[in-house]
Amino acid sequence: MKSQNHISRFRGGLFSLSLLALLSSVPVHAGVVRLQSNALILEVDDATAAWKLSDTRSAVQWPSEGTASPGNAPWLQGRFSRAASERGDSIKLTNEQGGAIGFSLVDAGQALELRYEKPGKESMRVLSDALAIGAAEGGYAIVPSREGLLVPVQGEKAFKRTFGTSEYEGCHMNMLGLVKKDSALIVTWDDAYVFPELERRVSAGNPNRLGTTFELRGGANSVRLMPLGKGDWNTVAREYRRYAKKRGYAVTLREKIRRDSRVELMIGAPDAKLWSCLTRRMNEESTAAESVRIHWTFDEAAKVAEHLKNDVKIERCFFMVGGWTEGGYDVRHPDNLPANPECGGNKALADAVKRIQNLGYLACLHDNVQDMYRDAKGWSPSFIEKNRDGSLIKGGRWNGGRAYMVCAPKQLELAQRPQNLGAIRALFGPWSYFIDTTYAVGPRECFDPNHPIGRNEDIAWKIRLSDYARNMFGIFGSECGREWALPHSDFFEGLVGVSGNYYAGLKPQEELGAQVIPFFEMVYHDCQICYGKYGYRAESAAENVAHHVLCARPLYYHSFPDHLYWQNKPGERRGGNTGTTDRASYTRSDNGWAEGLHPTDVFVKNTHEVLGPLHELTAYHRLLAFEYLTEDRSVRRATYGEGGQAVKVTVNFGQTPAEITSETGGRTVLPPWGFLVESSRFVAFHARSWNGQDYGNGALFTLRPTDNKDLEDSASIRIFHGFGPANLGWRGKTYEVKREEVIHPVAL
Ligand SMILES: [Zn+2]
Repeated sequence: MKSQNHISRFRGGLFSLSLLALLSSVPVHAGVVRLQSNALILEVDDATAAWKLSDTRSAVQWPSEGTASPGNAPWLQGRFSRAASERGDSIKLTNEQGGAIGFSLVDAGQALELRYEKPGKESMRVLSDALAIGAAEGGYAIVPSREGLLVPVQGEKAFKRTFGTSEYEGCHMNMLGLVKKDSALIVTWDDAYVFPELERRVSAGNPNRLGTTFELRGGANSVRLMPLGKGDWNTVAREYRRYAKKRGYAVTLREKIRRDSRVELMIGAPDAKLWSCLTRRMNEESTAAESVRIHWTFDEAAKVAEHLKNDVKIERCFFMVGGWTEGGYDVRHPDNLPANPECGGNKALADAVKRIQNLGYLACLHDNVQDMYRDAKGWSPSFIEKNRDGSLIKGGRWNGGRAYMVCAPKQLELAQRPQNLGAIRALFGPWSYFIDTTYAVGPRECFDPNHPIGRNEDIAWKIRLSDYARNMFGIFGSECGREWALPHSDFFEGLVGVSGNYYAGLKPQEELGAQVIPFFEMVYHDCQICYGKYGYRAESAAENVAHHVLCARPLYYHSFPDHLYWQNKPGERRGGNTGTTDRASYTRSDNGWAEGLHPTDVFVKNTHEVLGPLHELTAYHRLLAFEYLTEDRSVRRATYGEGGQAVKVTVNFGQTPAEITSETGGRTVLPPWGFLVESSRFVAFHARSWNGQDYGNGALFTLRPTDNKDLEDSASIRIFHGFGPANLGWRGKTYEVKREEVIHPVAL
């Protein structure tokens, strides 16, 4: 039974009552109890547990109409009564079926916690009525999956999707943001058994509805609602960061550099990865090799790094080597040693790591302790996760054959064996280490009586593994990335994108009518080094590049051709590429720095000359203001930092050129996936027109002072020219810069 009428009887007086105390529970009417703080007012019917939350700063209510039910579970259907054990800032209603529901003011009154004391461990579904957003309310949800999703209530696409806590492309922070009538609310939780579900209902003749339901499985029993008053995605990010800092997640890069000074080498460094020096393909049973292929010897791996430094002039680089292990990439884990003889063995790998690090690059070795193969020397079913019936839990079919999932405490045990991380450090001495899948695979359950774990324990063990690996090598990271891993690691590979796309499986526009929003950068840009993962074609990567410009993240280069690729002759593709499609624009080298170089190097150089300095300038700041400059949301602006250090990034994600007026270049025309970066110390653009110069189908330039002055005052500015016409206007003069040049503007 709903108590809608009952509540509405005193609604008129709701906001005229003075706030009796900052935190208080006040019986306002027979049967209705109130909790209030300066941020919120909660009213609960103590017989039905029907409730509503008022955001005092915006006067918006959750739910918008009537009241919310206590939730959807059989035990919640009966009558409730006040419990004797209440504190002043909480209300507890016990149910005749043996359960209880508690409402508490937490976080100094900034949030309402709902706590469900289930009689059993069955799943329950809550908040679907409280958090629903109607079409007329102009709202949206923000889902922290990889960079983030903005899911508007409007849209033609009906869908229902669960974004489970820490799942692959689920919720990668323990939060959801909701905005309706320009009023923002954050939902937070702690338990990995929380499964948020979003649903957009679209039916002919009816206005849309965006619903959010929380399924609390197993021991999960609470969620918190934090009303923020008037606000948008920027408000949600700012307030969530405040909360995350208190929870200990927001360990900054400055703190991580204090932890290990070499983390500083990752500032402005791209991720160059030779995925698989040795690729050996085993059969399903891991008993026989189906093929063996050497892509790079260890000596060649070092030569690739030396080429990037000396020929392509990439100053900094995070250089990862995979497939160095005895069996080859993804084979015979977790028994890695010796480094495979096909690529040169232990001595050659040690030499390669040394040469890479002599360049000032960070060498990183790729490992995996979650997948175990039947032909590993250390193979034992005792390490493997078990189903309820005791059978082994299988993983994917990878190069090494069928993988079996190592239980999280056993992952740590294996990593700690003398022949694993300790020996690898002693033999090769890389400054950083990567353990694959740890932050990618969703939380696990294991029913082996010798090492049973649930989803929360799985995360706790992976945190221990992270700390162990980081203490061993100094710098540690894993795949994809999760909020809980931020304090325990330095880098995520896969958070920013996958294979040149935003997601691996999820299709934001097609499946959800949603847009990717750089929400991670709004909350945590200054806390972690982040990259995308997997290879992609540079010839179709313009949107991926544009995404990285908006996120101010160096790119991931995971598609290097085999061996000493730049010595091969790629024929007609060499030089003179005029980028016949917009998607290929960043492979252009016409008239620019990399003209005549291998196409791989052209793409690396063009993109890194923009993204490296951009990350250097933004790495210690958050994305503080994210805006859509056009109605169709195709032109987007991200402002990192503030005041004199602010870096303003404008990107055109539309299919047609966009004209903007900019501080540095006046009338500026951005082609599809073109951009303009503006700051006192760095300007970069891929534009068809900037500062009075027209560039046909586009030119790429960057400007950076070399005299430690702001560009405005600088008498020495390095100009990099990627492609297109070579004329550049600066402070009333026109310069011709073919490749790169230091210009000396005369003071006006
Ligand atoms: Zn186990």
